[in-house]
Amino acid sequence: MRSSILAAALLAALPAAAQSPTPQPGEAAFRALYKEMVETDTSLTTGSCTALADKLAVRFRAAGFGDDEITQFSVPEFPKDGGIVVHLNGTDKKAQPMLLLGHLDVVAAKPEDWTRNPYQLIEENGYFYGRGTLDDKAQASVWADLLIRLKAANRPQKRTIKLALTCGEETTYAFNGADWLAKNRPDLIKAEFALNEGGGGQYGANGKPLGLAVQVGEKTVQNFWIEATNPGGHSSVPRPDNAITDIARAIVAVNTHEFPVQFTDTTRAYFTGLAKVLPAPVGPSITRLLSNPNDAEANRIVSMDPTNHSVLRTTCVATLIEAGHAENALAQRARSNVNCRMFPGTDPQALKADLDRIIANPKVTVSLKAPIRPVAKPTPMNPAIIGPMERLAAKHFPGVPMLAMMSTGATDAIFITPIGVPVYGAPGMFIDADGNGVHGLNERIRVESVMRGRDYLSELVLTLANP
Ligand SMILES: [Zn+2]
Repeated sequence: MRSSILAAALLAALPAAAQSPTPQPGEAAFRALYKEMVETDTSLTTGSCTALADKLAVRFRAAGFGDDEITQFSVPEFPKDGGIVVHLNGTDKKAQPMLLLGHLDVVAAKPEDWTRNPYQLIEENGYFYGRGTLDDKAQASVWADLLIRLKAANRPQKRTIKLALTCGEETTYAFNGADWLAKNRPDLIKAEFALNEGGGGQYGANGKPLGLAVQVGEKTVQNFWIEATNPGGHSSVPRPDNAITDIARAIVAVNTHEFPVQFTDTTRAYFTGLAKVLPAPVGPSITRLLSNPNDAEANRIVSMDPTNHSVLRTTCVATLIEAGHAENALAQRARSNVNCRMFPGTDPQALKADLDRIIANPKVTVSLKAPIRPVAKPTPMNPAIIGPMERLAAKHFPGVPMLAMMSTGATDAIFITPIGVPVYGAPGMFIDADGNGVHGLNERIRVESVMRGRDYLSELVLTLANP
């Protein structure tokens, strides 16, 4: 999330609400659940998501969920990468289910590099410290805690609320539980919409909430190999044909190619808001680009900001190079990994054809690298979902503006949207300007952020579950 944009958006801040939120009950039980989540190592290298799913299943059963409402799953090749799906059945047969999505796995943490034990929940100076305290065990704990409370109190909602806590989100080549569910058990997660990570909020430098974000749609990652081969020979006798030259020219062509400007409903709304608050020449250029995506001069000005540039289009960039085999030999092989971030709706095969055309050298082959991602459908700006998010934000975080954003990164939403479930990254959990050590050292989140996030997210789910 970008604080410069949020600071600008503050000019359009929502008015303060008179109504003040009521804290959710059961804080002690929530803290115990969160502690168990954080203190169970679920990293790919030293941990087990299955072990955490087992512990959660015990809690769900104790709350009254029956075997028909709890599904634990894993595959024999990856016994430690299991997940869990729980259904709180609804009362209104006409109301479609909703899905709460979260990931159990965390990025590995090396205890010797951390100030505190990463797999112990430590509360200090107003922060919770520990791997996963933010990504994604805070929100995942809120989801699990709410379902447990509703079941224990025998309070079903109109919609069936489905909860899926899965493994493998943090590692591209790991077994991915969300992908597995979408392909093998879509019935378990089919829903009118899903709430996921990817949204949130940001504190300003003064420690006050600066802005909230709801993530509506995201780009999809696709990697390609571009490769040139050559008979090679002695380097004392160079020839015009050369594998390294071929791949170098191809990289320049790819890295300097500009894909066309595109908009989704989300990015259109986002840029429309931005145009209102950014000064000339950027603001007026955004307005021109919105009415004519082919306006080259407007595109040039708006795209000078690298984030805007990426939000406006598919991007591809070379990220790895391997070439040659000896100091005194002409290279027989040169290749580069090209990392593309596909705009929603882009077909990876069509993008391969684009790269062939951009490189325009029959000696350079382009091939898709596994995993080949499904075509991401743009997520709609559904007012039935965004509306309550904004209304409750005005109550819980008065005066804090909320922006809808398309992410240039990727979450498990890329596996869920292809089965027809639009995914929204929920606002509510605030992070600091320094990024809170997510994926890095000494991951942390303010206690206040978790508790107020819990109040907001719980009320949001209860509101959306009763259309
Ligand atoms: Zn995450």
